[in-house]
Amino acid sequence: MKLFDLHGRAAIVTGGNGGIGRGLALAFAQAGADVCIAARSKSKLDSTAAEIEALGANCLSIECDVNELEDLKRTLELTKERFGACHILVNNAGIAQQALPQDLTDEQWDRVIDTNLTSVFRFSRTVFPTFRDQGGGKIINIGSEYSLFGSAFVPGYSASKGGVIQLTKSLAVAWADVNIQVNAIIPGWITSEMTGPVKENVEMFQAIVSRTPAGRFGEPEELGGAGIFLASAASDFVTGQSIVVDGGYSVS
Ligand code: NDP
Repeated sequence: MKLFDLHGRAAIVTGGNGGIGRGLALAFAQAGADVCIAARSKSKLDSTAAEIEALGANCLSIECDVNELEDLKRTLELTKERFGACHILVNNAGIAQQALPQDLTDEQWDRVIDTNLTSVFRFSRTVFPTFRDQGGGKIINIGSEYSLFGSAFVPGYSASKGGVIQLTKSLAVAWADVNIQVNAIIPGWITSEMTGPVKENVEMFQAIVSRTPAGRFGEPEELGGAGIFLASAASDFVTGQSIVVDGGYSVS
C-alpha cells in the first residue's frame, strides 16, 4: 500500500490534541508520518503525544493559538527543525458559537470567523513558501455539514465553514501548478467535546441519529481513511475537493 504510505512525511495537525484532530493525528502516525500536534491545552497535548508515541511514531507537541500569527510561524519552524521538513498541514482547530443571528454579538462573530476561517488562510499562507520550494505539499481543511446547510443556531460557524470550502477551492486553483493539493473533509456528526452537549440533549441526539442513514454518530478515528488519502500520494491529482464522511446524513 505504498500509495497511502506516510513514512518520511511530516504533518502538522492544529487542534491535534483532541476530538477529530486527535483522530487524524493517530491515523497519520499509524501510516508512518512524523506528527506535530498544535493547540492550546498543554495537558491534552501531553496525553495525545503519549498515545502517538505509543504507536512508535515521532510526535512534537506545540502550544499554539491559531489566532496568533507568530504561533503559526513558530509551529512550522519547530516542525521543520525537528523533522527536517513539513509536507502536510491539517487546519482542524475550530470552535462553535451558538446563538440566533439576531443575538450573535460582534465579538462572537469575530471569534468564530477568526478561529475557523482566518486561521486557515493564515496558516496555509505561512506554509506556502516551504511547500513550493520543496516541490509540493498537502493541505487538508476541515469543513462541516454547515458548509453545505444553513443553521439558525450557529450562523457564524456556518458562515466560517462555508468560507473554508470556498477558500479550499481558491487555494487549490492558485497552487496546483506548484504541486500543492488543497482539499477538505466534511465530517458529519462526530463524537467530540464540541458535540458533547448535543449528545446529552436526548431530543436533539435522537433527531440527528434518526436522520443519519448509518443510525449513529461517527467516531474521530473514522476520519482517518479520508485523512490518509488526502495526505498521501494516492491523492496527487485530487485538489479543491471535499470528502464528506457523515454516514449518509447529507444525502438523506
Ligand atoms: P473539539 O472541541 O474536540 O476540538 C477542537 C480542537 O480545536 C481542540 O483540540 C482545541 O484545542 C482546538 N482549538 C480550538 N481553538 C483553538 C485555537 N484558538 N488555537 C489552537 N487550537 C484551538 O471539536 P472537534 O474535534 O469536534 O472539532 C474539530 C474540527 O472539526 C473543528 O473545526 C470543527 O468545527 C470540525 N467539525 C466537527 C464536527 C463534529 O461533529 N465533531 C462536525 C463537523 C466539523 P485547545 O482547546 O487545546 O486549543
